[in-house]
Amino acid sequence: MASSRFLDELRRRTLVCDGAMGTQLIARGLASGECGVLWNVERREDVLAIHRAYRAAGCDLITTNTFGGSPSALARHGLEERAVELNMAAARLVAEAAGTWGFVLGDVGPFGDFLEPIGDTSVEQARDIFRRQIKGLLLGGSAAILVETMSDPAEVEVAVSAAREMGAPAVIATYAFQKSADESFRTMMGNDVTDALRRAIAAGADVVGANCGTSMTLEDYLALARDLVTAAGEVPVILQPNAGSPRIEGEQTVYDATPGDMAALVPRLLEAGVRVIGGCCGTTPAHLKAMSAAVAAAA
Ligand SMILES: [Zn+2]
Repeated sequence: MASSRFLDELRRRTLVCDGAMGTQLIARGLASGECGVLWNVERREDVLAIHRAYRAAGCDLITTNTFGGSPSALARHGLEERAVELNMAAARLVAEAAGTWGFVLGDVGPFGDFLEPIGDTSVEQARDIFRRQIKGLLLGGSAAILVETMSDPAEVEVAVSAAREMGAPAVIATYAFQKSADESFRTMMGNDVTDALRRAIAAGADVVGANCGTSMTLEDYLALARDLVTAAGEVPVILQPNAGSPRIEGEQTVYDATPGDMAALVPRLLEAGVRVIGGCCGTTPAHLKAMSAAVAAAA
């Protein structure tokens, strides 16, 4: 591991990341098709309130509201030219909420296309897209860059190496896995856990793991945690599970795992060797409050 305030703290103790952002924005009125990243400047009090709720829940790492903040994603809203400004504003908002204790995690999601030859985007084009987003996140004070919900190790290699080249103090990379017919966990592109993590580590990630996932139960996440720790070797592992496997109710996707269910999973994840714990789809400040209490109780 390289040296940074965040990585130094991680050597000392288990850290807690925050939970879902999109559902919290929707609860505050984000309309379907609206650009949530723009809220970092136009509805900053709402975004700040969400960050503060996760901070109050005991989260050490607060994630910027920039999952759709790549220039390519912003282009759909005619905002590509504002990529640096919006990502910088997002990181500054987290810094305001996190205070001196928490860490700003600069969030980078998939850029939205496949790399050549499956898609139309070259590695060089993808690198330029990631660099513009990461530039803003670092200017705003990110303590680490989080490359998340990834399916393609080649895309992870581009994003992680871009973050490293731009001087990110630390880089975290997480994939979305699904359980395949043979019970093993694979990315949507078919990569197994070992292949996916090794490539992220080789590209320069300091912390590796998984977030989100498709139709994974809490027991599946525990099995995945064990695979991640084995594959990562000496590199610390992060896991941000969904609140269980979702079900469709009418037009809504519902996640049933309660804060208590998620908290009960925490000691088992710690025993498996996970070092950073957070939440993804379906998790709320209430889930993270219960989970961070479980982490504190295990310390
Ligand atoms: Zn998710």
